[in-house]
Amino acid sequence: MHDDRDLVEARLRRVLDERIRPAVYPESVPLKVGVWNAPGEPVPVAEGLAATPEPIAVGDAWGAPWGTSWFTVTGTVPHEWAGKTVEALLDLGFDERKPGFQCEGLVYLPDGTPVKGLNPRTQWVRVGAPAAGGEQVELRVEAASNPEIFGPVPWRPTQLGDTETAGSEPQYRIARMDLAVFDETVWQLVMDLEVLGELMVELPADSGRRAELLRAVNRALDAVDLQDVNATAAAARAELAGVLAAPANASAHRVSAVGHAHIDSAWLWPLRETVRKVARTAANMTALLDDEPDFVFAMSQAQQWAWIKEHRPEVWAKVTKAVASGRFVPAGGMWVESDTNMPGSEAMARQFVHGKRFFIDEFGIDNDEVWLPDTFGFAAGLPQIIKAAGSSRLLTQKISWSQTNTFPHHTFLWEGIDGTRVFTHFPPVDTYNCSMTGRELAHAARNFKDKGVARHSLAPTGWGDGGGGTTREMVAKAARVRDLEGSPQVTWEPPSAFFAKAEAEHPNPPVWVGELYLELHRATLTSQAQTKQGNRRSESLLREAELWAATAAVRAGAPYPYAELDRIWKTVLLHQFHDILPGSSIAWVHREARRTYAAVAEELNAVIDTAQRALAGESAGGELVFNGAPHARHGVAAGAAGPAVPEAATTVRPREEGGYELDNGLLRVEIDARGLVVSAYDLTAGRETLPRGRAANLLQLHPDLPNQWDAWDVDSFYRNTVTDLVTADEVRLEGASVRVSRSFGASSVTQLLTLSGGRLEIATEVDWHETEKFLKLAFPLAVHADRYASESQYGHTFRATHTNTSWEAAKFEACNHRFVHVEEPGWGVALVNDSTYGHDVTRTVGEDGTTTVVRVSLLRAPRFPDPETDQGVHRFRHALVPGATIGDAVREGYFINLPERRVPGSASVEPLVSVDDDAVVVTAVKLADDESGDVVVRFHESRGGRVRATLTPDFPFTEVVTTDLLERPTGEANGADGAVSLTLRPFELVTLRFRRA
Ligand SMILES: [Zn+2]
Repeated sequence: MHDDRDLVEARLRRVLDERIRPAVYPESVPLKVGVWNAPGEPVPVAEGLAATPEPIAVGDAWGAPWGTSWFTVTGTVPHEWAGKTVEALLDLGFDERKPGFQCEGLVYLPDGTPVKGLNPRTQWVRVGAPAAGGEQVELRVEAASNPEIFGPVPWRPTQLGDTETAGSEPQYRIARMDLAVFDETVWQLVMDLEVLGELMVELPADSGRRAELLRAVNRALDAVDLQDVNATAAAARAELAGVLAAPANASAHRVSAVGHAHIDSAWLWPLRETVRKVARTAANMTALLDDEPDFVFAMSQAQQWAWIKEHRPEVWAKVTKAVASGRFVPAGGMWVESDTNMPGSEAMARQFVHGKRFFIDEFGIDNDEVWLPDTFGFAAGLPQIIKAAGSSRLLTQKISWSQTNTFPHHTFLWEGIDGTRVFTHFPPVDTYNCSMTGRELAHAARNFKDKGVARHSLAPTGWGDGGGGTTREMVAKAARVRDLEGSPQVTWEPPSAFFAKAEAEHPNPPVWVGELYLELHRATLTSQAQTKQGNRRSESLLREAELWAATAAVRAGAPYPYAELDRIWKTVLLHQFHDILPGSSIAWVHREARRTYAAVAEELNAVIDTAQRALAGESAGGELVFNGAPHARHGVAAGAAGPAVPEAATTVRPREEGGYELDNGLLRVEIDARGLVVSAYDLTAGRETLPRGRAANLLQLHPDLPNQWDAWDVDSFYRNTVTDLVTADEVRLEGASVRVSRSFGASSVTQLLTLSGGRLEIATEVDWHETEKFLKLAFPLAVHADRYASESQYGHTFRATHTNTSWEAAKFEACNHRFVHVEEPGWGVALVNDSTYGHDVTRTVGEDGTTTVVRVSLLRAPRFPDPETDQGVHRFRHALVPGATIGDAVREGYFINLPERRVPGSASVEPLVSVDDDAVVVTAVKLADDESGDVVVRFHESRGGRVRATLTPDFPFTEVVTTDLLERPTGEANGADGAVSLTLRPFELVTLRFRRA
């Protein structure tokens, strides 16, 4: 037989596009349209419904950037449509090629009942099957004219990303506002042909099944009368019934389809718009659940659920009803789908506390699955936190975005720094916006790395970010591939059902140890420095606020600010969303974040101040130093207040060659005439920190234009070009410190270098006005080390200093929390920071042997999506700590983030709890969230070894239990004689709950 495959495939494309799809709506009449443009920000629904509309016509422009327009559409169903299915087609000016990221609408009945969302690929509203015709139709649409930030050419700087700069030019043109007859038979034919046509081209060209599909499609097209598709669609479908009925192969891959809409909590739109995006999508999905009995939808991010509850009670009522039926499923158990590299230990824990608690309180649902499809890499502290929250499974697909290496598994056990393992699945469909195409399903089956031992994978299915979620077309296609020869088999089910099957079929999955590093988006550790600083400050202040408020409550009977702390935690957790903390949102989001963090700081400082004054007693002219850190400092115990012992004084001496030498008996540091540190001598160990001829505190400037994803990415070639900023405008003494001033490009920097104890503190102020540059601060260290440690959640993670393999080479920019530490046996160096996360560590070899170069990432200047990213003044603090053990690094990291607070007073404050071994670090002291007055203490082993220690509470208690992160008891603690004996594994995290006597 002649091979006419290409001919038939081309025929299918043309006839579908030009004849069959247009016949889905064979008849239509225009609706009358009115509009009322809300002045400025969105208005309450009642106000929008009550407003008086002005006439507007199809073809007219509407929608200033970020505006809200309330459309009223009215019409009459023609009498001749009696008995036919009628839909309103409301095209606000959508570009169907882009399923989200544009204007959107939420359709209401005139009484305010939400009907469904309007999105580029769901423009229809079912009106019904009018019995007689003549029925009046009236709908209202709350339409948001969110501008497209990704223009026709991506990554171009745009002023549209902030309402303050976006202007008022209308963004859209009404394209269609009609009542139309919906021909379901034609629509079903479209679904048949799409499924079979898409499956056909994925099958081997020489397979019998492919040929059968080709012949059936050709016969179906023969059966279509191109001048009367509606009358002949049924006959065409009949030609396809046979091939659609053939059951799947016995070895077919099995896909668990989970209805999904990945909604970024803020990104190319502000937070307030996400509130509405979520409501539109949820309304769409509850409507689809009503129409499609097999469909299951999962929604993550408790914050988004809370928004619906607070802002759209009508939608919330539909959601709670659908949750009760088990088909609208809470997923993930986190407050938001946060970044997981940068959030600190407690914040990462609280993501789960607040997320899981919301679903438990609202629905009694305590789910096992962590849902993070889009997060930019996963810190190795996470498995322990997941388990401590009472969960055990993780889903993400983001690692498939890695540019260099292909991850070897799709289903595996992920082992964290402490040895905790969680069952993890990466959907092989490689998207969190699956649309049920044959191509996607075939890719999932082919790509699945665990073939032969497992056969199930998950497909998050639906358009996110304003795409409205799953469409009826996706549901129709899934129904056809439930059991179809040549296709993977698809079943709608919740994530828990998928994981149960996957665990059962794969009892011995492979193990991946350590972080799940994303080989992309590395610059998200640096972009939008003030957002990062706001996060770090907020985390530190929350620690202090809980500690001192709990201490004041127990010691002085002061009220504990439960509600205030709960609210502030949720604010900080929201801003750890994976496009806010990473710095990848529009200018508007980051402008608001800076303001929010300032408000958070003000409130928390007030909480801390109130508690400390309650504890300090009447001032008798004295001054108390409060130490909120987990280690003693200046003679004040951890969590205590008392008089402080000052640091040793620094002696300053000019150097003959220019510059100054600082010496405090512990460290002797030489700063040359260029303001560079040329020697840092550890007087205790008798050892030089820097390699001969190399200078530290060296600012380095690189050009930085990645190939794409400007705010997200730094590409490895950035290192090929570097300018060392060695010219100083001024190097002078300021007290016992050295001040260095430089200028470069349009920017300037001043640094203050100070000895304090065993550390060289460097306060850097940059007035940054560069474009597409990357600013680093370099410290070459005379340390021979194959690996270095970076602080992560509840411990630290090791990375190589070399690039032997592509996996190591790809980690050319990585995340630390408060410290980076390198060491040779017996001697090491820590570099600690108060707010930077990005860094790189490399090695060079010279006369002195190996040099380990640690560089801190200070600032970038990408222009997309925020064209003014990081312009302005920034302040950073770092400290170089020669001779530091890993324990010293932990301690110094806390110190630089928790400055001592001096409060007038005379009554020394004893710590609520103390631990007799510094390896055990207390990360939280607080009152229990249930307001019982119980004291909750969380701590962990911080050095990566085993430890036996005693934790002593300094308050009477009747009972002590271990708990999970949600403060739910998990077991008895050994609390005899008023103290608790501890035996901790490396990095083990423990929460204790004390019932006070
Ligand atoms: Zn996302």
